[in-house]
Amino acid sequence: MPSPRLEINLKKINENSTALSQLYNKRGIQIIPVSKAVLGNPRIVQAMIQADTRYIADSRLENIQRMKDGGIKSKFVLLRSCPGAAELTVKLADISLNTEIQTVRKLSRCAAKVNKIHQVILMVEMGDLREGIMPTDLFDFIDETLTMDHLELIGIGCNLACYGGVKPNKKKMHCFSELSTKIERQFKIQLQIVSAGNSANYDWFRQTQQIGKINNLRLGESILLGRETLKRKPIPNLHTDAFKLVAEVIESKRKPSIPDGEISQDAFGNLPVFKDRGDHQRLIVALGRQDVPPSSLNPQDRLELLGASSDHLIIDDKTESIDVGDEISFEINYGGLLAAMTSPYVYKHYIA
Ligand SMILES: *Cc1c(COP(=O)(O)O)cnc(C)c1O
Repeated sequence: MPSPRLEINLKKINENSTALSQLYNKRGIQIIPVSKAVLGNPRIVQAMIQADTRYIADSRLENIQRMKDGGIKSKFVLLRSCPGAAELTVKLADISLNTEIQTVRKLSRCAAKVNKIHQVILMVEMGDLREGIMPTDLFDFIDETLTMDHLELIGIGCNLACYGGVKPNKKKMHCFSELSTKIERQFKIQLQIVSAGNSANYDWFRQTQQIGKINNLRLGESILLGRETLKRKPIPNLHTDAFKLVAEVIESKRKPSIPDGEISQDAFGNLPVFKDRGDHQRLIVALGRQDVPPSSLNPQDRLELLGASSDHLIIDDKTESIDVGDEISFEINYGGLLAAMTSPYVYKHYIA
């Protein structure tokens, strides 16, 4: 089989999605699978979909197009607004997340032109300092949005633990929930979607007695890799190994652990430092920074990653049992998944 390759276990992804959907549904929270880390790959997205899945969310219009072409029948949510492509947004996405009034106006004009109703979720800044309308500006923003004939405000959202690392704790979630109550009262409307976050909301959900008005989460990483994202703890009963990166050993030799000669910069402009472990068994694996960031790889027991260049990975092999032509398999984190999915050099192998 070609290598390097990403082995994608569709059954495990589906089981993760089922388990999360049951867990959150029990207390009235619907989940929207997020497909951006897998580039909207239709086979993988199909595995993320449950009987009750209404929407798939992605940050890129290209990925939404790819899912539509691949036969995915759900409705689509655009996670990252795209003012330069408002027309395409209205065409491809049923809902978009928004934070700028100009963009919302533009979406409304484009929707009017094709006589569609485009739905919007307004993202609120809750302190993480990525996207969001400042709460003080929110009511004026909503006031204007509600006047637009071809837009429907269907909810509010927030996103924490992405840029600022701010935890979605009880206090933040309570504030967010209260905000939705205030909006509903003031404007005499019903918000269908109160979407409180992402895979980082797991601990809050487990610990809180009060979900409040929150009824939606957008989940990528926890479905795909089985972890919450505040500390990357595995979620009970989920698979953390639905994705594995496999690559071939192209050299296996006993060598010294300290380079021999005058040391200058390595291939990436760093001055390398080395730990003397005496002579040891060293492997070269045909995988490099052009495929994935080396720090995203977690090798099996008793293999230690020493470093990597563009296309060679150097490993200390304490098992002393791995030969040229053997394959090594790595668990990967979110960064590794993103890179491996994006790399044209990494072959994708599906296990049903
Ligand atoms: C990526 C993204 C998510 C999903 O985040 P995960 O940590 O993968 O669950 C949710 N919401 C928005 C706005 C995103 O951009």
